[in-house]
Amino acid sequence: MTTPVRIAIFEDLPPMRWPNACATCCGKESLSGATVRVGRIKSARPNLLGGWTIKSDVLYLTVPVCARHRTVNQLAHVLLEKSPLMLLIRGLSYLLGLGGALLLLTSLIRLDGVGLMQTYQNSPPFFWMFMGGLAASLLFFWLKRQVGVRVVRLDPDLDVLDLRFRDARFAKAFKKANPEATDSVMTAGPPWYRRKLTHQLLVLAVFFAFMAYLFNRH
Ligand SMILES: [Zn+2]
Repeated sequence: MTTPVRIAIFEDLPPMRWPNACATCCGKESLSGATVRVGRIKSARPNLLGGWTIKSDVLYLTVPVCARHRTVNQLAHVLLEKSPLMLLIRGLSYLLGLGGALLLLTSLIRLDGVGLMQTYQNSPPFFWMFMGGLAASLLFFWLKRQVGVRVVRLDPDLDVLDLRFRDARFAKAFKKANPEATDSVMTAGPPWYRRKLTHQLLVLAVFFAFMAYLFNRH
């Protein structure tokens, strides 16, 4: 079980402080930092020149890890990144992986391996794509379980980062080291009527109501 941690990232808060331990195993020997990139586009709106003004900010977290868990954390930070490209790659892998799992399962149930061999003989590229997707999906699941600190998302309504900590002791030490930034009042979300999603749904509802009105007029 991972521990959810919400941390505020306002500018006037003291800098984030990490416990002196590995985020994966809580060990204290030969620690170094593994950096995870938290990128997002803050706002995109049309400007007077006909283009788009995009305000973006990128945040980096440097998580302490021991020598034994350094590679797995660095790999996880790259492969589990919340960037459009990685989301696409993971989505494709899960889709192909599901195909691969179904293929394996049907072959297992029939106990003859015919489905598997037939796919391999008929179209080797498909076979390898399915199996590659399955292997990649398993790797992603495993990395999610191993990574010390996983970025879930940046709250769209306020500057709060949603994280998941693998080790409960590490999470506790982190909260203790950052009492202001992890304060539950400070990181509480706004009420539903002030959330971005509510406003977006409202705009959609008004749009559909208007379209319905236009259609019904004729
Ligand atoms: Zn470790």
